[in-house]
Amino acid sequence: ADQYDLIIVGGGPIGLACAIEAQKKNLRYLIIEKGAIVNSIFNYPLYMTFFSTAERLEIGDIPFNCLAPKPGRQEALEYYRNIHRYFNFNINLFEKVNEIKKTGSSIFEISTNKSSYKSKNVVIATGFYDIPIHMNIKGEELPKVRHYYKEAHEYAFRNVLVVGANNSSVDAALECWRKGANVTMVVRKNEINNRVKYWVKPDIENRIAEGSIKAYFESNITEILDNKVEIETPNGKVTIENDFVLALTGYKPDLNFLQNTGIELSNDELKIPTYNPETMETNIEGLFLAGVVCGGMQTHKWFIENSRIHANMIVDYITSK
Ligand code: FAD
Repeated sequence: ADQYDLIIVGGGPIGLACAIEAQKKNLRYLIIEKGAIVNSIFNYPLYMTFFSTAERLEIGDIPFNCLAPKPGRQEALEYYRNIHRYFNFNINLFEKVNEIKKTGSSIFEISTNKSSYKSKNVVIATGFYDIPIHMNIKGEELPKVRHYYKEAHEYAFRNVLVVGANNSSVDAALECWRKGANVTMVVRKNEINNRVKYWVKPDIENRIAEGSIKAYFESNITEILDNKVEIETPNGKVTIENDFVLALTGYKPDLNFLQNTGIELSNDELKIPTYNPETMETNIEGLFLAGVVCGGMQTHKWFIENSRIHANMIVDYITSK
């Protein structure tokens, strides 16, 4: 029966980078991706701009053409689709991996919603963009509360509350305000996050200083109602009119999936999976991690430009065994 040398779970930039290396070394490999190719980028806000310059998003030494200093979502989709046109990957799209288990001593059985496969090695490169971190407050389940932001038009001329002060929140707040929304931000800390893109940070800080965007710092939403939101601020409780809540409070990797596969996670709130930083092999022989998933709840630690190297590390190790 079919048996692969390597199955790659996740067709994001890092999964594709692993496939390029596997292909170069003539390994029998398959990528299994639950959505479209580079599904996370497909789900990004439509007009987002990367913080990385184009050459830092490149994989397989294929140049990424870009006129502006930083590419956007659409250009990244063009680029990664062209990567597939060039390498013609062995990839199954719209197929979800449900379970990975070791059968016998060294062969993995990978079960999906469509089929099952056998492989000597497995890379998990499943990213972090599928599970939003919830606020766990009353009213969060209302349809006006969103954990993903696509574009501003829907929010024009409405009262929009943006939760958080990282890149996603700041981009959404500015875009919505520029398209005519009445924007309020609720920020847990006392400042805009330092990781916010350096060319965007002064923009949001100036909009807040001039009062165009209202911001409650050191504050938390306590309840979301149909037409209102309650906020706990250092000056007491405030209730404001509200039509939409953009709860851009971050995302987390599917930690249950990692645990069910047998990967040990650190015993603290960071839940960092166990792996050898030289080979990316987990505590299970032949099972590897690559890309943003390696950080556990530290979802900012690994990104495309610093984790594309995982692909070489893994494939070099597999082929040297
Ligand atoms: P992902 O791109 O998330 O790919 C994981 C893939 O696995 C997905 O396609 C998913 O559908 C698939 N998958 C998940 N579970 C399964 C399963 N069970 N079965 C099959 N398939 C599965 N990084 C940068 O380097 N530079 C930037 O400028 C940058 N900007 C960002 C902007 C935004 C708005 C966001 C949200 C992130 C940004 N990042 C940036 C981070 C970036 O998303 C990650 O670095 C990058 O996507 C990591 O690639 P990955 O392949 O590890 O994970």
